[in-house]
Amino acid sequence: MATSQRKIAVIGAGIAGIACARTLAQAGHAVTLLEKRLTVGGRMASCETPFGSFDNGAQYFTVRDPQFEKALSVSQALRKPWSANAVRVLDPHGRVAEAALPAREPHWVSVPTMDALALHWAQPLALAGSLELQTRVSGIEPDALDRRRWQLHTSGPEDSVHVFSGFDAVLLALPHALAVGLLRQSDIAPALAQRIEPVTVAPCWTLMLAFPQAVQPTMAHLGPQWNAAHSTHHRIAWLARESSKPGRSAIERWTVQASPAWSQEHLEDDGARVQAKLLKAFAEVTGIYAEPAYAQVRRWRWARTENPLGTSHLWDGRTRVGVCGDWCLGHRVENAFVSGLELALAVHRG
Ligand SMILES: Cc1cc2nc3c(=O)[nH]c(=O)nc-3n(C[C@H](O)[C@H](O)[C@H](O)COP(=O)(O)OP(=O)(O)OC[C@H]3O[C@@H](n4cnc5c(N)ncnc54)[C@H](O)[C@@H]3O)c2cc1C
Repeated sequence: MATSQRKIAVIGAGIAGIACARTLAQAGHAVTLLEKRLTVGGRMASCETPFGSFDNGAQYFTVRDPQFEKALSVSQALRKPWSANAVRVLDPHGRVAEAALPAREPHWVSVPTMDALALHWAQPLALAGSLELQTRVSGIEPDALDRRRWQLHTSGPEDSVHVFSGFDAVLLALPHALAVGLLRQSDIAPALAQRIEPVTVAPCWTLMLAFPQAVQPTMAHLGPQWNAAHSTHHRIAWLARESSKPGRSAIERWTVQASPAWSQEHLEDDGARVQAKLLKAFAEVTGIYAEPAYAQVRRWRWARTENPLGTSHLWDGRTRVGVCGDWCLGHRVENAFVSGLELALAVHRG
């Protein structure tokens, strides 16, 4: 059984789902990767605007894990070091509270945008017809024709519905709360759902700003000379000059992440209200009071893991249901990668 080909569904095409699906496909299994959005990458997300791109999810990634390093070594052209190494800590008024520490490790970004790595790694799956975009899985149940297998109910554009059937295994590569929700709603693998429940993940409101009136390198930057900083302002936890990342357009652009506590407090607020408050805080911290030509907020309901599962994945060989995601191990892109990889190896071993 360990070496025979199996038909496997992976739900969610973030880094964890892609790492998992790729590994299983490379091991010879028939994989279907289902993703509710138009594109892959999940929280390793980027968006295009008339002023250039924004990485509105993960800002950069670290490479501590040897398996992640190995996978990246064959995609070298897609990553570049970012000088955000010299990250400062700012007080609420934008004064440097802690000077930049010497770089402990490189901070890497994908080029030309953070989602490029996910797109590249998912490409073989897309070419093989194994990637189903705009396909939201709404239910998992025993296959109508063979109760030993699984079938998935999905919804797509314009309320279209479809059933994918005949899966020997179903793997959920979703944010923890969505994984619990799908398992509970489908009434399968209750033991897995129970194990995930103690995991906690903080939200993050993210603000994107463009100031085309200041273009590097012909004009000086607007505001501070640093490119990335942690902030102790009660609204803001992180600021980064997007235009300082390698391979991006020169138009001055900033990404601002609200603090976990403030994001939680304002989770259900209206986007316009959140935008106004974060813009005010941004001006206080950076001294940039110019009117942005572009401003947009994005809410991440599950952004940064606070209390991880503590093990790389969960796999129930009896029900043939598994789960993976960054929240199993931590809050980083490489945690997501390792989690997906380890789940795939466990499933392949049978
Ligand atoms: C604002 C922010 C900043 C961050 N900054 C950093 C950073 O600087 N460095 C770092 O290393 N990490 C950072 N992270 C964390 C990093 O983005 C995550 O660790 C990683 O991307 C998680 O990958 P994942 O595959 O586990 O989950 P996700 O990326 O969330 O993937 C889950 C996928 O499942 C899909 N999905 C959900 N429900 C369904 C369904 N029912 N059917 C089908 N598909 C579904 C989603 O659309 C998504 O594509 C940040 C995250 C956020 C939000």
